Amino acid sequence: MWFSRKKIKSSPLFLYNSLSKNKEEFKPIHGSSVRMYTCGPTVYDYAHIGNLRAYIFSDIAKRVLQYRGFSVKHIINITDVGHLVHDSDDGEDKMSAGLLREGKELNLENMYELGEKYTKSFIDDLKTLHVLMPFAYPRASDNIQEQIAFITSLKQKGYAYNTSDGVYFDTAKFKAYGALGLPGVENDSAHSRLGAHAEKHDQRDFALWKFNKNLGWEASWGKGFPGWHIECTAMATKYLGKHFDIHTGGVDHIAIHHNNEIAQAEAVSNKRFANFWMHGEFITVEGKRIGKSEGNAIQLYQLKERGISPIAYRYLLLTTHYRSLMNFTWESLQGAATALQRAKRHFADLPVNGGKVLDVYREKFEKAVSDDLDTPKAVAVLWELLKDDSVLPRDKRATVLNFDQVLGLGFKDMPSEMRSVPVSVSGGVSEEVTKLLEEREKARNDKNWARSDELRDILLGMGFSVEDTPDGVKVVKL
Ligand code: AMP
Ligand code: ZN
Repeated sequence: MWFSRKKIKSSPLFLYNSLSKNKEEFKPIHGSSVRMYTCGPTVYDYAHIGNLRAYIFSDIAKRVLQYRGFSVKHIINITDVGHLVHDSDDGEDKMSAGLLREGKELNLENMYELGEKYTKSFIDDLKTLHVLMPFAYPRASDNIQEQIAFITSLKQKGYAYNTSDGVYFDTAKFKAYGALGLPGVENDSAHSRLGAHAEKHDQRDFALWKFNKNLGWEASWGKGFPGWHIECTAMATKYLGKHFDIHTGGVDHIAIHHNNEIAQAEAVSNKRFANFWMHGEFITVEGKRIGKSEGNAIQLYQLKERGISPIAYRYLLLTTHYRSLMNFTWESLQGAATALQRAKRHFADLPVNGGKVLDVYREKFEKAVSDDLDTPKAVAVLWELLKDDSVLPRDKRATVLNFDQVLGLGFKDMPSEMRSVPVSVSGGVSEEVTKLLEEREKARNDKNWARSDELRDILLGMGFSVEDTPDGVKVVKL
């Protein structure tokens, strides 16, 4: 691992907490280890670039925590059961819809396979985007007993009741319901739709379990499926405990999913569930909400088809704050690709090692990312550094690599063809020296830094100083 675990004393870390609607100073519950849960995808289809924004956001949060010396236990769940197409607790679930779409028979085995296929694709996308792997990707269908146990506790404590179609959480019994804020009911189509359920005690009550005679798992209250909300609460508790540091998700989760998660967890534990609730904003595509019917659910492979590196998308996202709505256009992505290419060329021409991280720049960078993950400012600091001619090239290189621990743009693993290496030699050199210079260039391209340094020393011994400059390798006869 190339993360520095050194504790940094400088600027405090502030994160926006959707609970207080303020930036708050972040301090872990236990020492320097942070526990973080991210609501994962429903694996009924390929992820689109909107979905992927949610995981680049949580990746940046995690990297900033690591940059600041914390260790992070991160969980991203995989929803492969129970996420209904509507928030109304009625109708089809997304996994069944996926099976139907693919012409597969509705059974648990096929559902698991469908989940497997899209989970694999999702994880591949995250890897492509340089998202660090979480501690685990638990699947809802592998944690059914944990969810049944949670519902049993809620029933025992009097927070759940049965209707003809399922087991419901009784929001009226949980006095603090709506910790993340409840939208006005008349303006809130999701909640007002819940009223359609005649048997519910309150329109805000939600399904913990849906009965299904044909498909699902056995429970003492009847065969069926767990609800989407109980799944996250049960898995977060299983992996991170009853009280943990950070829970992340998209802004669409705030009003219902996360209020419900809090209600379930705190009704059972009588403890605060997560200290910080962080939410990433949406992207629109060419000004429109992403939707299958709009035909704009762009997937990562489509970027590659157009010859654009997926990392350009990561760069593009970094230039907008995670709490701001971003409008994606192909033009803006192309702009990001060009900027990234330019940054990498700057970097490619820097000498390979021996530099030190510059405190002044590091402080600026750390201050930016510590202000609620201000990545647009952090990218601006990167550019300021790349363009600063007063900085020694090798120090510039070391500092860029330090920043990349958070940015994750892959400066370290840049393809060798990006290197621009016009070799200028003042005074002319022998064939032997030319050969050594070529060999050194090859070693650099192969990232064999030890050999390239060795060759530099040999050349020095022969009376030639070799310097890697932004304009290429400069050789001077001493
Ligand atoms: P889902 O698979 O529908 O549960 O969504 C997975 C994640 O993608 C959730 O965290 C959503 O908040 C997020 N998401 C869905 N659409 C968008 C979008 N257009 N922009 C950003 N995030 C989105
Ligand atoms: Zn969730």
